[in-house]
Amino acid sequence: MRIGVDLGGTKIEVIALAADGRELLRRRLPTPQGDYVATIAAVAGLVKAAESELGRRGSVGIGIPGAESRASGLIKNANSTCLIGRPLRTDLEALLQREVRLANDANCFTLSEAADGAGRGAEVVFGVILGTGVGGGIVAHGHILAGANAIAGEWGHNPLPLPQAADLPLPACYCGRRGCIETYLCGPALTRDHAQQTGETLDPAEIDQRASAGDATCEATLQRYEARLGRALAGVINLLDPQVIVLGGGLSNLQRLYRNLPACCGPHVFSDVFYTRIVPPAHGDSSGVRGAAWLWD
Ligand SMILES: [Zn+2]
Repeated sequence: MRIGVDLGGTKIEVIALAADGRELLRRRLPTPQGDYVATIAAVAGLVKAAESELGRRGSVGIGIPGAESRASGLIKNANSTCLIGRPLRTDLEALLQREVRLANDANCFTLSEAADGAGRGAEVVFGVILGTGVGGGIVAHGHILAGANAIAGEWGHNPLPLPQAADLPLPACYCGRRGCIETYLCGPALTRDHAQQTGETLDPAEIDQRASAGDATCEATLQRYEARLGRALAGVINLLDPQVIVLGGGLSNLQRLYRNLPACCGPHVFSDVFYTRIVPPAHGDSSGVRGAAWLWD
């Protein structure tokens, strides 16, 4: 049995999968806010409760909003800041009395979709998170590519390629740089861009609904978004050339992206043909926690 835990900023979710990938159990708790000791106790408690309910012991994989430093074993790049600088894996191993595998949540998303989701059977899958932030992960030949610095796939903090007049001035990013892809392509950025152009504050789903109903300003906002996303993904394609790009996060619910993105990417890809498939996730919001379970294969 494989147990996966998605340790998010607002909730901790646990899933238990049978050997064939069937879901045996799923539970969730709110994440203790800003309290590291309570957070690891909650994770260990969920795992132990799942095992006692199912009457067996499982392997444990955990997806986190950050990465484990290869040098120190401490957590970095986590937006749940109470995890930063902590030896999360060794602390959980002590509480659970076994080896634990940790991975970035975008990597878990990508692994889930590559294992038995929208990227099944593909040699290389790039998973994209378009949510409150922009992240990504790479799975090649069934395995997560973590990278020398544990940041493989983190395209959200590359600069947006070919900035146009509407992209300037380059927005400041929390990471300390300017013009990061995330500052144009996360959900709040779509809302901000629409507000700057129209004075109207709408969430991405409302912008999408109004564009579908024929609102020209909402349509223009989404076309700017798609053009930026197309240029940003073209850079990934030139480097990695994945067979499949799976979109995740809240903005992956915008169905028009799957229709419109190939035409936005294609002209910026260094190839006369464009075969890369850009697809929605098969497991939706469950991919993070499923991929954590799949860390043991
Ligand atoms: Zn940045």
